[in-house]
Amino acid sequence: MAATYAMTWDLDVFFPGGSSSPEFRQFVEELNRDIGNLEQRIDALDSAQGKEQPEKWGDLIDHVQELGKRLRQAGAFVNCLTAQNVKDEQAKLLRGRLTQLGASFGAAMTQLERKILDTPENEWRELINHPRLQPVAFSLEERRRRAAEQLPPEQEVLVGDLAVDGYHAWWELYNTVVGRITIPFEEDGEVKRLSVGQARNKFSSEDGQVRKTVFEEWQKAWQEHADLCASALNHLGGFRLNLYRHRGWDSVLKEPLDNNRMTRETLETMWGVIDENKERLIPYFERKAKLLGLDALRWCDLDAPLPGGEKSVSYDEAADFIIEQFGRFDPGLADFARTAFENRWIEAEDRPNKRPGGFCTTFPVSGQSRIFMTFGGTTGNISTLAHELGHAYHQQVMGDLPYWSQLYAMNVAETASTFAEMIVTDAAIRHASSDAERLGLLEEKLQRAAAFFMDIRARFLFETRFYEERKDGPVSVDRLNQLMVDAQREAFADAMADYDPTFWASKLHFYITGQPFYNFPYTFGFLFSAGIYGRAKEDGAAFAAKYADLLRDTGRMTVEDLAARHLGVDLRRPDFWQSAVDQVLSDVDQFLRLSEKA
Ligand SMILES: [Zn+2]
Repeated sequence: MAATYAMTWDLDVFFPGGSSSPEFRQFVEELNRDIGNLEQRIDALDSAQGKEQPEKWGDLIDHVQELGKRLRQAGAFVNCLTAQNVKDEQAKLLRGRLTQLGASFGAAMTQLERKILDTPENEWRELINHPRLQPVAFSLEERRRRAAEQLPPEQEVLVGDLAVDGYHAWWELYNTVVGRITIPFEEDGEVKRLSVGQARNKFSSEDGQVRKTVFEEWQKAWQEHADLCASALNHLGGFRLNLYRHRGWDSVLKEPLDNNRMTRETLETMWGVIDENKERLIPYFERKAKLLGLDALRWCDLDAPLPGGEKSVSYDEAADFIIEQFGRFDPGLADFARTAFENRWIEAEDRPNKRPGGFCTTFPVSGQSRIFMTFGGTTGNISTLAHELGHAYHQQVMGDLPYWSQLYAMNVAETASTFAEMIVTDAAIRHASSDAERLGLLEEKLQRAAAFFMDIRARFLFETRFYEERKDGPVSVDRLNQLMVDAQREAFADAMADYDPTFWASKLHFYITGQPFYNFPYTFGFLFSAGIYGRAKEDGAAFAAKYADLLRDTGRMTVEDLAARHLGVDLRRPDFWQSAVDQVLSDVDQFLRLSEKA
Protein backbone atom coordinates (compact mmCIF):
# COMPACT_ATOMS: atom_id res chain seq x y z
CA MET A 1 0.00 0.00 0.00
CA ALA A 2 1.21 3.46 -0.81
CA ALA A 3 2.28 5.70 2.04
CA THR A 4 0.16 8.66 3.05
CA TYR A 5 2.12 11.86 3.28
CA ALA A 6 1.21 14.91 5.35
CA MET A 7 0.59 18.02 3.23
CA THR A 8 1.78 20.53 5.83
CA TRP A 9 5.34 21.16 6.90
CA ASP A 10 7.01 20.96 10.28
CA LEU A 11 8.57 24.26 11.37
CA ASP A 12 8.37 23.50 15.10
CA VAL A 13 11.45 21.32 14.81
CA PHE A 14 13.43 24.56 14.27
CA PHE A 15 11.56 26.91 16.63
CA PRO A 16 8.34 25.76 18.32
CA GLY A 17 5.40 28.17 18.39
CA GLY A 18 5.43 29.92 15.01
CA SER A 19 5.80 33.71 14.97
CA SER A 20 5.42 33.94 18.76
CA SER A 21 8.10 31.34 19.46
CA PRO A 22 10.18 32.31 22.56
CA GLU A 23 13.02 30.12 21.25
CA PHE A 24 13.14 32.11 18.04
CA ARG A 25 13.16 35.41 19.93
CA GLN A 26 16.09 34.16 21.95
CA PHE A 27 17.89 33.04 18.78
CA VAL A 28 17.50 36.52 17.24
CA GLU A 29 18.66 38.25 20.44
CA GLU A 30 21.84 36.17 20.54
CA LEU A 31 22.45 36.81 16.87
CA ASN A 32 21.99 40.54 17.43
CA ARG A 33 24.53 40.46 20.26
CA ASP A 34 27.12 38.54 18.23
CA ILE A 35 26.74 40.73 15.15
CA GLY A 36 27.12 43.76 17.44
CA ASN A 37 30.49 42.43 18.64
CA LEU A 38 31.71 41.59 15.16
CA GLU A 39 33.36 44.91 14.26
CA GLN A 40 35.50 44.69 17.39
CA ARG A 41 36.65 41.21 16.46
CA ILE A 42 37.53 42.40 12.96
CA ASP A 43 39.60 45.26 14.40
CA ALA A 44 41.48 42.80 16.58
CA LEU A 45 43.02 41.32 13.41
CA ASP A 46 45.44 44.27 13.32
CA SER A 47 47.32 43.00 16.36
CA ALA A 48 47.91 39.56 14.81
CA GLN A 49 51.58 38.93 14.06
CA GLY A 50 53.51 36.35 12.01
CA LYS A 51 52.61 32.76 12.83
CA GLU A 52 49.43 33.58 14.69
CA GLN A 53 48.03 35.43 11.69
CA PRO A 54 46.48 32.47 9.82
CA GLU A 55 44.95 31.22 13.08
CA LYS A 56 43.44 34.61 13.90
CA TRP A 57 42.11 35.02 10.37
CA GLY A 58 40.80 31.46 10.36
CA ASP A 59 38.94 31.94 13.64
CA LEU A 60 37.39 35.15 12.42
CA ILE A 61 36.33 33.75 9.03
CA ASP A 62 34.82 30.69 10.77
CA HIS A 63 32.90 33.00 13.06
CA VAL A 64 31.67 35.18 10.17
CA GLN A 65 30.47 32.09 8.30
CA GLU A 66 28.69 30.84 11.38
CA LEU A 67 26.92 34.19 11.74
CA GLY A 68 25.99 34.02 8.05
CA LYS A 69 24.40 30.61 8.64
CA ARG A 70 22.46 31.82 11.67
CA LEU A 71 21.21 34.86 9.78
CA ARG A 72 20.06 32.63 6.94
CA GLN A 73 18.38 30.23 9.38
CA ALA A 74 16.44 33.12 10.92
CA GLY A 75 15.54 34.52 7.48
CA ALA A 76 14.33 31.13 6.28
CA PHE A 77 12.08 30.73 9.31
CA VAL A 78 10.45 34.14 8.84
CA ASN A 79 10.12 33.57 5.11
CA CYS A 80 8.27 30.31 5.77
CA LEU A 81 6.01 31.98 8.34
CA THR A 82 4.96 34.80 6.00
CA ALA A 83 4.46 32.40 3.08
CA GLN A 84 2.21 30.00 4.98
CA ASN A 85 0.03 32.86 6.22
CA VAL A 86 0.27 36.23 4.49
CA LYS A 87 -1.79 37.73 7.34
CA ASP A 88 0.72 36.83 10.07
CA GLU A 89 1.44 40.37 11.35
CA GLN A 90 3.88 39.15 13.98
CA ALA A 91 5.96 37.53 11.25
CA LYS A 92 6.08 40.82 9.32
CA LEU A 93 7.51 42.57 12.40
CA LEU A 94 10.14 39.84 12.70
CA ARG A 95 11.06 40.42 9.07
CA GLY A 96 11.70 44.10 9.79
CA ARG A 97 13.96 43.11 12.69
CA LEU A 98 15.97 40.76 10.46
CA THR A 99 16.37 43.44 7.77
CA GLN A 100 18.08 45.61 10.39
CA LEU A 101 20.29 42.73 11.50
CA GLY A 102 21.20 42.06 7.87
CA ALA A 103 22.24 45.70 7.40
CA SER A 104 24.52 45.59 10.49
CA PHE A 105 26.06 42.37 9.27
CA GLY A 106 26.57 43.93 5.83
CA ALA A 107 28.39 46.92 7.33
CA ALA A 108 30.73 44.59 9.24
CA MET A 109 31.38 42.66 6.04
CA THR A 110 32.44 45.87 4.26
CA GLN A 111 34.88 46.43 7.10
CA LEU A 112 36.21 42.88 6.71
CA GLU A 113 36.60 43.34 2.95
CA ARG A 114 38.66 46.44 3.61
CA LYS A 115 41.02 44.36 5.79
CA ILE A 116 41.19 41.77 3.03
CA LEU A 117 42.10 44.46 0.51
CA ASP A 118 44.67 46.14 2.80
CA THR A 119 46.68 42.96 3.36
CA PRO A 120 49.98 43.16 1.42
CA GLU A 121 50.24 40.69 -1.47
CA ASN A 122 52.97 38.46 0.00
CA GLU A 123 51.14 38.12 3.33
CA TRP A 124 47.92 37.45 1.45
CA ARG A 125 49.46 34.59 -0.59
CA GLU A 126 50.67 32.96 2.61
CA LEU A 127 47.28 33.36 4.22
CA ILE A 128 45.16 31.83 1.51
CA ASN A 129 47.56 28.93 0.97
CA HIS A 130 47.57 28.11 4.66
CA PRO A 131 45.57 24.92 5.43
CA ARG A 132 43.46 26.93 7.88
CA LEU A 133 42.05 29.17 5.11
CA GLN A 134 42.54 27.07 1.99
CA PRO A 135 38.97 25.63 2.09
CA VAL A 136 37.54 29.11 1.46
CA ALA A 137 40.39 30.41 -0.72
CA PHE A 138 38.17 30.87 -3.77
CA SER A 139 35.72 33.04 -1.88
CA LEU A 140 38.52 35.04 -0.21
CA GLU A 141 40.24 35.69 -3.52
CA GLU A 142 36.95 36.73 -5.10
CA ARG A 143 36.26 39.17 -2.29
CA ARG A 144 39.73 40.67 -2.56
CA ARG A 145 39.50 41.07 -6.34
CA ARG A 146 36.02 42.61 -6.19
CA ALA A 147 37.09 45.07 -3.50
CA ALA A 148 40.13 46.05 -5.59
CA GLU A 149 37.98 46.76 -8.65
CA GLN A 150 35.75 49.15 -6.76
CA LEU A 151 36.29 52.73 -5.65
CA PRO A 152 38.23 53.43 -2.45
CA PRO A 153 36.23 52.12 0.57
CA GLU A 154 35.07 55.56 1.82
CA GLN A 155 33.62 56.32 -1.62
CA GLU A 156 31.92 52.92 -1.86
CA VAL A 157 30.32 53.53 1.54
CA LEU A 158 28.99 56.85 0.20
CA VAL A 159 27.74 55.14 -2.96
CA GLY A 160 25.93 52.55 -0.85
CA ASP A 161 24.28 55.23 1.29
CA LEU A 162 23.22 57.35 -1.70
CA ALA A 163 21.98 54.28 -3.57
CA VAL A 164 19.20 53.72 -1.01
CA ASP A 165 17.28 56.76 -2.28
CA GLY A 166 18.99 57.39 -5.60
CA TYR A 167 18.98 53.87 -7.03
CA HIS A 168 17.00 51.21 -5.19
CA ALA A 169 14.19 53.76 -4.73
CA TRP A 170 13.46 53.53 -8.48
CA TRP A 171 12.73 49.83 -8.07
CA GLU A 172 10.36 50.63 -5.23
CA LEU A 173 8.70 53.38 -7.23
CA TYR A 174 8.25 51.00 -10.13
CA ASN A 175 6.52 48.53 -7.82
CA THR A 176 4.21 51.27 -6.58
CA VAL A 177 3.26 52.11 -10.16
CA VAL A 178 2.61 48.44 -10.97
CA GLY A 179 0.47 48.12 -7.85
CA ARG A 180 -1.83 50.89 -9.13
CA ILE A 181 -2.33 49.51 -12.61
CA THR A 182 -5.62 47.75 -13.25
CA ILE A 183 -6.74 46.10 -16.46
CA PRO A 184 -10.45 46.12 -17.36
CA PHE A 185 -11.86 42.72 -18.24
CA GLU A 186 -15.44 41.79 -19.02
CA GLU A 187 -16.69 38.61 -17.39
CA ASP A 188 -20.33 37.48 -16.94
CA GLY A 189 -21.61 40.77 -18.37
CA GLU A 190 -19.70 42.82 -15.83
CA VAL A 191 -16.46 44.82 -16.28
CA LYS A 192 -13.95 43.85 -13.61
CA ARG A 193 -10.65 45.60 -12.96
CA LEU A 194 -7.88 43.01 -12.77
CA SER A 195 -4.54 43.49 -11.05
CA VAL A 196 -1.44 42.97 -13.19
CA GLY A 197 -0.98 39.50 -11.70
CA GLN A 198 -4.60 38.50 -12.35
CA ALA A 199 -4.43 39.79 -15.90
CA ARG A 200 -1.20 37.91 -16.55
CA ASN A 201 -2.90 34.64 -15.53
CA LYS A 202 -5.44 35.20 -18.33
CA PHE A 203 -2.66 34.65 -20.90
CA SER A 204 -2.81 30.99 -19.87
CA SER A 205 -6.54 30.85 -20.62
CA GLU A 206 -7.75 28.16 -23.02
CA ASP A 207 -10.00 30.77 -24.66
CA GLY A 208 -8.18 32.56 -27.50
CA GLN A 209 -10.64 35.47 -27.46
CA VAL A 210 -9.96 36.05 -23.75
CA ARG A 211 -6.22 36.10 -24.38
CA LYS A 212 -6.62 38.54 -27.28
CA THR A 213 -8.88 40.94 -25.37
CA VAL A 214 -6.67 40.95 -22.27
CA PHE A 215 -3.60 41.55 -24.41
CA GLU A 216 -5.19 44.62 -26.03
CA GLU A 217 -6.22 46.08 -22.67
CA TRP A 218 -2.81 45.14 -21.27
CA GLN A 219 -1.05 47.17 -23.98
CA LYS A 220 -3.31 50.17 -23.33
CA ALA A 221 -2.71 50.07 -19.58
CA TRP A 222 1.07 49.83 -19.85
CA GLN A 223 1.21 52.49 -22.53
CA GLU A 224 -0.73 54.77 -20.18
CA HIS A 225 1.91 54.32 -17.45
CA ALA A 226 4.87 54.07 -19.80
CA ASP A 227 6.18 57.56 -18.99
CA LEU A 228 6.63 56.66 -15.30
CA CYS A 229 8.22 53.31 -16.13
CA ALA A 230 10.55 54.95 -18.65
CA SER A 231 11.56 57.49 -16.04
CA ALA A 232 12.40 54.75 -13.53
CA LEU A 233 14.31 52.73 -16.13
CA ASN A 234 16.29 55.73 -17.39
CA HIS A 235 17.25 56.87 -13.91
CA LEU A 236 18.31 53.53 -12.51
CA GLY A 237 20.17 52.86 -15.74
CA GLY A 238 21.83 56.27 -15.51
CA PHE A 239 22.90 55.61 -11.92
CA ARG A 240 24.44 52.29 -12.94
CA LEU A 241 26.32 53.76 -15.92
CA ASN A 242 27.68 56.63 -13.83
CA LEU A 243 28.88 54.34 -11.09
CA TYR A 244 30.55 52.03 -13.63
CA ARG A 245 32.26 55.03 -15.23
CA HIS A 246 33.67 56.17 -11.90
CA ARG A 247 34.88 52.67 -11.13
CA GLY A 248 36.53 52.56 -14.55
CA TRP A 249 34.37 49.68 -15.83
CA ASP A 250 33.87 49.90 -19.58
CA SER A 251 31.09 47.32 -20.08
CA VAL A 252 27.62 47.01 -18.54
CA LEU A 253 28.13 43.25 -18.68
CA LYS A 254 31.07 43.33 -16.30
CA GLU A 255 28.98 43.28 -13.13
CA PRO A 256 26.43 40.60 -14.15
CA LEU A 257 29.14 38.35 -15.64
CA ASP A 258 31.22 38.68 -12.52
CA ASN A 259 28.20 37.99 -10.27
CA ASN A 260 27.66 34.80 -12.24
CA ARG A 261 31.36 33.84 -12.26
CA MET A 262 31.46 33.46 -16.03
CA THR A 263 33.35 34.99 -18.96
CA ARG A 264 31.98 37.04 -21.82
CA GLU A 265 33.30 34.44 -24.26
CA THR A 266 31.10 31.77 -22.67
CA LEU A 267 28.06 34.04 -22.86
CA GLU A 268 28.65 34.91 -26.49
CA THR A 269 29.24 31.28 -27.47
CA MET A 270 26.00 30.26 -25.78
CA TRP A 271 23.96 32.93 -27.56
CA GLY A 272 25.69 32.13 -30.85
CA VAL A 273 24.63 28.48 -30.69
CA ILE A 274 21.07 29.46 -29.77
CA ASP A 275 20.87 31.92 -32.66
CA GLU A 276 22.02 29.27 -35.09
CA ASN A 277 19.42 26.76 -33.89
CA LYS A 278 16.39 28.79 -32.92
CA GLU A 279 14.64 28.38 -36.27
CA ARG A 280 14.20 24.73 -35.38
CA LEU A 281 11.44 25.92 -33.03
CA ILE A 282 9.43 27.51 -35.82
CA PRO A 283 7.67 24.28 -36.91
CA TYR A 284 6.51 23.99 -33.29
CA PHE A 285 5.08 27.55 -33.44
CA GLU A 286 3.32 26.77 -36.73
CA ARG A 287 1.82 23.54 -35.45
CA LYS A 288 0.74 25.12 -32.17
CA ALA A 289 -1.01 27.91 -34.12
CA LYS A 290 -2.80 25.29 -36.21
CA LEU A 291 -3.90 23.34 -33.13
CA LEU A 292 -5.30 26.56 -31.67
CA GLY A 293 -7.11 27.28 -34.94
CA LEU A 294 -4.94 30.28 -35.90
CA ASP A 295 -2.96 31.24 -39.03
CA ALA A 296 0.05 32.35 -37.03
CA LEU A 297 0.97 32.44 -33.37
CA ARG A 298 0.34 35.77 -31.63
CA TRP A 299 2.26 37.06 -28.60
CA CYS A 300 -0.77 36.33 -26.38
CA ASP A 301 -0.67 32.64 -27.41
CA LEU A 302 2.86 31.90 -26.21
CA ASP A 303 1.65 30.65 -22.80
CA ALA A 304 -1.62 29.21 -24.06
CA PRO A 305 -2.28 25.54 -23.21
CA LEU A 306 -3.45 23.08 -25.82
CA PRO A 307 -7.12 22.19 -25.46
CA GLY A 308 -7.88 19.09 -23.32
CA GLY A 309 -5.42 16.54 -22.03
CA GLU A 310 -5.12 17.68 -18.41
CA LYS A 311 -5.53 14.96 -15.79
CA SER A 312 -5.75 15.20 -12.03
CA VAL A 313 -3.47 13.36 -9.58
CA SER A 314 -3.50 12.99 -5.81
CA TYR A 315 -0.61 14.22 -3.66
CA ASP A 316 0.33 10.68 -2.64
CA GLU A 317 0.39 9.58 -6.28
CA ALA A 318 2.56 12.56 -7.16
CA ALA A 319 4.97 11.81 -4.30
CA ASP A 320 5.27 8.13 -5.18
CA PHE A 321 5.76 8.95 -8.86
CA ILE A 322 8.56 11.42 -8.10
CA ILE A 323 10.33 9.01 -5.73
CA GLU A 324 10.10 6.20 -8.27
CA GLN A 325 11.42 8.30 -11.17
CA PHE A 326 14.23 9.83 -9.10
CA GLY A 327 15.18 6.27 -8.15
CA ARG A 328 15.77 5.32 -11.79
CA PHE A 329 18.50 7.94 -11.94
CA ASP A 330 19.93 7.58 -8.45
CA PRO A 331 18.58 5.62 -5.43
CA GLY A 332 20.23 8.25 -3.22
CA LEU A 333 18.10 10.99 -4.77
CA ALA A 334 14.97 8.86 -4.26
CA ASP A 335 15.86 8.26 -0.59
CA PHE A 336 16.38 11.95 -0.14
CA ALA A 337 12.96 12.78 -1.62
CA ARG A 338 11.26 10.10 0.49
CA THR A 339 12.80 11.58 3.64
CA ALA A 340 11.54 15.02 2.63
CA PHE A 341 7.98 13.70 2.18
CA GLU A 342 8.03 11.58 5.35
CA ASN A 343 9.64 14.15 7.64
CA ARG A 344 7.29 16.93 6.58
CA TRP A 345 9.76 19.15 4.75
CA ILE A 346 6.99 20.19 2.36
CA GLU A 347 4.06 22.59 2.69
CA ALA A 348 1.65 21.69 -0.13
CA GLU A 349 -1.87 22.09 1.28
CA ASP A 350 -4.39 24.02 -0.82
CA ARG A 351 -5.89 26.58 1.61
CA PRO A 352 -6.53 30.34 1.79
CA ASN A 353 -3.99 32.97 2.88
CA LYS A 354 -0.98 31.17 1.44
CA ARG A 355 1.41 33.12 -0.77
CA PRO A 356 1.23 32.10 -4.46
CA GLY A 357 4.12 30.32 -6.19
CA GLY A 358 6.72 27.89 -4.93
CA PHE A 359 10.17 28.03 -3.36
CA CYS A 360 12.76 26.02 -1.50
CA THR A 361 14.61 27.52 1.43
CA THR A 362 17.37 26.13 3.59
CA PHE A 363 17.97 26.07 7.35
CA PRO A 364 21.77 25.72 7.34
CA VAL A 365 22.17 25.47 11.14
CA SER A 366 19.85 22.43 11.16
CA GLY A 367 21.02 20.97 7.84
CA GLN A 368 17.46 20.77 6.48
CA SER A 369 15.41 22.47 3.77
CA ARG A 370 11.74 23.36 3.45
CA ILE A 371 9.64 23.45 0.30
CA PHE A 372 6.64 25.68 -0.20
CA MET A 373 3.95 25.27 -2.88
CA THR A 374 0.22 24.74 -3.29
CA PHE A 375 -0.76 21.36 -4.67
CA GLY A 376 -3.91 21.40 -6.80
CA GLY A 377 -3.45 18.04 -8.53
CA THR A 378 -2.12 19.24 -11.92
CA THR A 379 0.86 17.74 -13.73
CA GLY A 380 2.43 21.21 -13.50
CA ASN A 381 2.30 20.80 -9.73
CA ILE A 382 4.26 17.53 -9.98
CA SER A 383 6.97 19.34 -11.96
CA THR A 384 7.06 22.11 -9.34
CA LEU A 385 7.46 19.56 -6.54
CA ALA A 386 10.27 17.83 -8.42
CA HIS A 387 11.87 21.22 -9.16
CA GLU A 388 11.90 22.31 -5.52
CA LEU A 389 13.13 18.89 -4.36
CA GLY A 390 16.01 19.37 -6.79
CA HIS A 391 16.93 22.61 -5.00
CA ALA A 392 16.75 20.84 -1.64
CA TYR A 393 19.01 18.01 -2.91
CA HIS A 394 21.55 20.56 -4.19
CA GLN A 395 21.66 22.05 -0.70
CA GLN A 396 21.95 18.62 0.88
CA VAL A 397 25.03 17.56 -1.10
CA MET A 398 26.91 20.75 -0.17
CA GLY A 399 25.64 20.98 3.42
CA ASP A 400 28.93 19.93 5.04
CA LEU A 401 31.10 22.43 3.13
CA PRO A 402 32.23 25.74 4.64
CA TYR A 403 29.32 28.16 4.36
CA TRP A 404 31.10 30.48 1.94
CA SER A 405 31.66 27.53 -0.42
CA GLN A 406 27.93 26.93 -0.51
CA LEU A 407 27.08 30.34 -1.94
CA TYR A 408 26.37 29.66 -5.61
CA ALA A 409 25.35 32.24 -8.23
CA MET A 410 22.05 32.62 -10.10
CA ASN A 411 23.22 30.86 -13.26
CA VAL A 412 23.98 27.56 -11.49
CA ALA A 413 21.23 27.91 -8.87
CA GLU A 414 18.74 26.19 -11.17
CA THR A 415 20.98 23.29 -12.21
CA ALA A 416 19.67 20.68 -9.78
CA SER A 417 16.07 21.91 -9.88
CA THR A 418 15.82 21.88 -13.68
CA PHE A 419 17.55 18.49 -13.77
CA ALA A 420 15.05 16.99 -11.29
CA GLU A 421 12.18 18.52 -13.23
CA MET A 422 13.45 17.01 -16.50
CA ILE A 423 13.61 13.52 -14.98
CA VAL A 424 10.01 13.71 -13.79
CA THR A 425 8.52 15.50 -16.82
CA ASP A 426 10.08 13.05 -19.25
CA ALA A 427 8.73 10.17 -17.18
CA ALA A 428 5.29 11.77 -17.15
CA ILE A 429 5.41 11.98 -20.95
CA ARG A 430 6.31 8.28 -21.19
CA HIS A 431 3.58 7.29 -18.71
CA ALA A 432 0.85 9.53 -20.16
CA SER A 433 -2.46 7.71 -20.54
CA SER A 434 -3.40 9.37 -23.85
CA ASP A 435 -1.75 11.14 -26.77
CA ALA A 436 -3.62 14.33 -25.91
CA GLU A 437 -2.08 14.31 -22.44
CA ARG A 438 1.36 13.53 -23.87
CA LEU A 439 1.02 16.35 -26.37
CA GLY A 440 0.04 18.78 -23.60
CA LEU A 441 3.15 17.86 -21.60
CA LEU A 442 5.45 18.18 -24.61
CA GLU A 443 3.91 21.54 -25.41
CA GLU A 444 4.67 22.81 -21.89
CA LYS A 445 8.30 21.76 -22.33
CA LEU A 446 8.56 23.49 -25.70
CA GLN A 447 6.95 26.61 -24.26
CA ARG A 448 9.82 26.72 -21.80
CA ALA A 449 12.38 26.15 -24.53
CA ALA A 450 10.93 29.06 -26.54
CA ALA A 451 11.03 31.25 -23.43
CA PHE A 452 14.70 30.48 -22.73
CA PHE A 453 15.90 30.61 -26.34
CA MET A 454 13.80 33.49 -27.66
CA ASP A 455 12.02 35.53 -25.02
CA ILE A 456 15.04 35.75 -22.70
CA ARG A 457 17.23 36.42 -25.72
CA ALA A 458 14.98 39.36 -26.65
CA ARG A 459 15.27 40.73 -23.11
CA PHE A 460 19.05 40.48 -23.28
CA LEU A 461 19.21 42.20 -26.68
CA PHE A 462 16.89 44.95 -25.50
CA GLU A 463 18.79 45.60 -22.29
CA THR A 464 22.16 45.70 -24.06
CA ARG A 465 20.88 48.19 -26.65
CA PHE A 466 19.06 50.27 -24.08
CA TYR A 467 22.32 50.80 -22.15
CA GLU A 468 24.14 51.67 -25.34
CA GLU A 469 21.64 54.45 -26.11
CA ARG A 470 21.29 55.53 -22.48
CA LYS A 471 24.95 56.55 -22.49
CA ASP A 472 23.92 59.52 -24.66
CA GLY A 473 20.95 60.53 -22.50
CA PRO A 474 17.44 59.37 -21.52
CA VAL A 475 15.63 57.08 -23.98
CA SER A 476 12.03 58.05 -24.88
CA VAL A 477 8.96 55.82 -24.54
CA ASP A 478 8.57 55.53 -28.32
CA ARG A 479 12.19 54.55 -28.71
CA LEU A 480 11.93 51.97 -25.91
CA ASN A 481 8.89 50.45 -27.63
CA GLN A 482 10.83 50.35 -30.88
CA LEU A 483 13.92 48.77 -29.28
CA MET A 484 11.70 46.14 -27.65
CA VAL A 485 9.88 45.13 -30.82
CA ASP A 486 13.15 45.04 -32.80
CA ALA A 487 14.71 42.76 -30.19
CA GLN A 488 11.66 40.45 -30.14
CA ARG A 489 11.45 40.28 -33.91
CA GLU A 490 15.12 39.32 -34.10
CA ALA A 491 15.02 36.82 -31.24
CA PHE A 492 11.83 35.15 -32.52
CA ALA A 493 13.21 34.93 -36.07
CA ASP A 494 10.29 37.04 -37.32
CA ALA A 495 7.97 34.07 -36.72
CA MET A 496 5.25 35.75 -34.67
CA ALA A 497 2.07 37.45 -35.92
CA ASP A 498 2.64 40.36 -33.51
CA TYR A 499 4.94 41.54 -30.71
CA ASP A 500 4.73 43.13 -27.28
CA PRO A 501 6.03 46.75 -27.52
CA THR A 502 5.49 47.63 -23.83
CA PHE A 503 7.21 44.48 -22.57
CA TRP A 504 10.08 46.66 -21.25
CA ALA A 505 7.52 48.30 -18.93
CA SER A 506 5.61 45.22 -17.80
CA LYS A 507 8.59 42.92 -17.11
CA LEU A 508 9.77 43.71 -13.60
CA HIS A 509 13.15 42.03 -14.11
CA PHE A 510 14.45 45.13 -15.91
CA TYR A 511 13.90 47.12 -12.72
CA ILE A 512 15.61 44.86 -10.18
CA THR A 513 18.53 46.91 -8.84
CA GLY A 514 20.05 44.10 -6.80
CA GLN A 515 20.97 42.08 -9.89
CA PRO A 516 21.49 43.72 -13.33
CA PHE A 517 20.73 41.72 -16.49
CA TYR A 518 18.27 39.45 -14.72
CA ASN A 519 17.92 37.39 -17.90
CA PHE A 520 20.87 35.50 -19.37
CA PRO A 521 21.58 33.51 -16.17
CA TYR A 522 18.18 31.84 -16.69
CA THR A 523 19.09 30.62 -20.15
CA PHE A 524 22.54 29.58 -19.01
CA GLY A 525 21.08 27.56 -16.12
CA PHE A 526 18.49 25.88 -18.30
CA LEU A 527 20.96 24.82 -20.98
CA PHE A 528 23.68 23.89 -18.50
CA SER A 529 21.20 21.58 -16.83
CA ALA A 530 19.96 20.18 -20.16
CA GLY A 531 23.55 19.38 -21.16
CA ILE A 532 24.14 17.57 -17.88
CA TYR A 533 20.84 15.72 -18.29
CA GLY A 534 21.90 14.55 -21.74
CA ARG A 535 25.17 13.31 -20.24
CA ALA A 536 23.29 11.48 -17.48
CA LYS A 537 21.20 9.63 -20.06
CA GLU A 538 24.35 8.55 -21.90
CA ASP A 539 26.37 7.53 -18.85
CA GLY A 540 23.60 5.74 -16.93
CA ALA A 541 24.00 4.77 -13.27
CA ALA A 542 27.67 5.75 -13.16
CA PHE A 543 26.73 9.40 -13.53
CA ALA A 544 24.91 9.90 -10.20
CA ALA A 545 28.12 10.24 -8.17
CA LYS A 546 29.70 12.57 -10.75
CA TYR A 547 26.57 14.68 -10.69
CA ALA A 548 26.69 15.08 -6.89
CA ASP A 549 30.38 16.06 -7.13
CA LEU A 550 29.55 18.72 -9.70
CA LEU A 551 26.79 20.16 -7.50
CA ARG A 552 29.18 20.30 -4.53
CA ASP A 553 31.54 22.53 -6.47
CA THR A 554 28.95 25.06 -7.71
CA GLY A 555 29.80 27.57 -4.96
CA ARG A 556 33.58 27.48 -5.13
CA MET A 557 34.73 27.86 -8.75
CA THR A 558 33.94 29.64 -11.99
CA VAL A 559 31.45 27.97 -14.33
CA GLU A 560 34.22 27.35 -16.86
CA ASP A 561 36.27 25.47 -14.23
CA LEU A 562 33.18 23.63 -13.04
CA ALA A 563 32.37 22.35 -16.54
CA ALA A 564 35.99 21.50 -17.34
CA ARG A 565 36.50 19.54 -14.16
CA HIS A 566 33.24 17.60 -14.02
CA LEU A 567 32.14 17.33 -17.63
CA GLY A 568 35.46 17.65 -19.42
CA VAL A 569 34.07 20.41 -21.66
CA ASP A 570 35.09 23.96 -22.53
CA LEU A 571 32.11 26.29 -22.18
CA ARG A 572 33.85 28.85 -24.38
CA ARG A 573 33.51 26.45 -27.29
CA PRO A 574 30.17 25.60 -28.96
CA ASP A 575 30.20 21.77 -28.57
CA PHE A 576 28.64 21.53 -25.12
CA TRP A 577 25.99 24.14 -25.93
CA GLN A 578 25.13 22.42 -29.19
CA SER A 579 24.56 19.10 -27.43
CA ALA A 580 22.40 20.86 -24.82
CA VAL A 581 20.31 22.59 -27.51
CA ASP A 582 19.89 19.27 -29.36
CA GLN A 583 18.78 17.65 -26.13
CA VAL A 584 16.07 20.30 -25.67
CA LEU A 585 14.94 20.40 -29.29
CA SER A 586 14.56 16.63 -29.57
CA ASP A 587 11.05 17.27 -28.21
CA VAL A 588 10.08 19.17 -31.38
CA ASP A 589 10.11 16.01 -33.52
CA GLN A 590 7.98 14.08 -31.07
CA PHE A 591 5.57 17.00 -30.80
CA LEU A 592 5.19 17.24 -34.58
CA ARG A 593 4.74 13.49 -34.97
CA LEU A 594 2.07 13.22 -32.27
CA SER A 595 0.15 16.31 -33.34
CA GLU A 596 -0.03 15.18 -36.96
CA LYS A 597 -2.92 12.90 -36.03
CA ALA A 598 -4.59 15.48 -33.82
ZN1 LIG B 1 14.05 27.18 -8.93
